[in-house]
Amino acid sequence: MPLSYSSERADDVFLNPTEPEFSLVIPMHNEEDSVPELYKQLLEVMETRYPSFEIVFVDDNSTDRTYRLLAEIAARDARVKVIKLKRNFGQTPALAAGFDYAQGEIIISMDGDLQHDPADIPNLVEKIREGYDLASGWRKKRIDNLVMRRVPSRIANWLMAKLSGVELHDFGTTFKAYRRDTIKRIKLYGELHRFIPALASWNGAKIVEVPIKNINRESGASHYGISRTFRVMFDLLTVRFLLKYVTRPLHFFGAVGFLGMLAGGLIGVFLVLKKLVSGGDVFLQHGPLMMMGMLLILAGVQLVSTGLVAELLARTYFESQGQTIYTVEKTLNHVERSRDSSDEMTSII
Ligand code: UDP
Ligand code: MG
Repeated sequence: MPLSYSSERADDVFLNPTEPEFSLVIPMHNEEDSVPELYKQLLEVMETRYPSFEIVFVDDNSTDRTYRLLAEIAARDARVKVIKLKRNFGQTPALAAGFDYAQGEIIISMDGDLQHDPADIPNLVEKIREGYDLASGWRKKRIDNLVMRRVPSRIANWLMAKLSGVELHDFGTTFKAYRRDTIKRIKLYGELHRFIPALASWNGAKIVEVPIKNINRESGASHYGISRTFRVMFDLLTVRFLLKYVTRPLHFFGAVGFLGMLAGGLIGVFLVLKKLVSGGDVFLQHGPLMMMGMLLILAGVQLVSTGLVAELLARTYFESQGQTIYTVEKTLNHVERSRDSSDEMTSII
């Protein structure tokens, strides 16, 4: 046999030469205690319900035995793929790596700390089969610490829903299922994994929420504290901007800039009229106002210029990457786009 797997468990070897139907993407950083149990639970669900599957474990450069344990599993089970990152990049890059390598038609992401119950996978998957593009887990009954996690998360979720325009209850969980082209189109940066549904909505993805179990972390430690609230806020700002203005940044910067110039201009006119009508020393009488007028005009000019530069950047981005500013659902009697551009249709965000 040309197989290089350890011979003692040769009967366990499972070869899966064709592309699997399902991919599980699981980022792992120092989760040695969860590895065997997680693998066992995943097999229970997948082998009975969805036998054509792969598990893509992304080891985010763990310092414990996580990688070694994953490697042992991968040596026996060809359905298990392991991607080891070169340093600890964080959860979002780890997920992005997993999505890049995943081959399934339906891709499921989850945490590797057993806080997500594999038994919930079918509920997510069935929604995709029903026709949704993204099924997002919703920890309906929260069991986390009230002050440290539940209250900030409640407020954050509310804000995220309002500002991103995607009415989810729970942005904070990575337990989700996606149709392949939905997730492959999304480019993740920073810690934007929380906003995958919002980014997907830009492409017109049909999104649904599915209640999932909320389990306490039994081993290892959470990688996040309350400080993540601030980072989430900044990410929200980015997402809001991307969703609304990425193809027309001048509409955003220009509007604010013009308001500044208008206000500054009015102040200027007022001061000039005052000088003409009553003479006197306007600078002494209205020094602060004059400063404000000047600042407003300057800031306004700066903002408009920033907007123009951003318009240039947007064009460079779209055209150099062969990106489109739209996403096609399907075409009839028509296959090729006549424009000279790449076939690979990826979105901007
Ligand atoms: N994770 C990772 N790299 C990191 C931090 C976290 O791959 O730098 C993984 C971690 O192993 C877990 C998932 O991301 O599988 C979620 O992390 P954690 O459980 O700490 O987050 P929480 O559940 O507290 O939101
Ligand atoms: Mg966790």
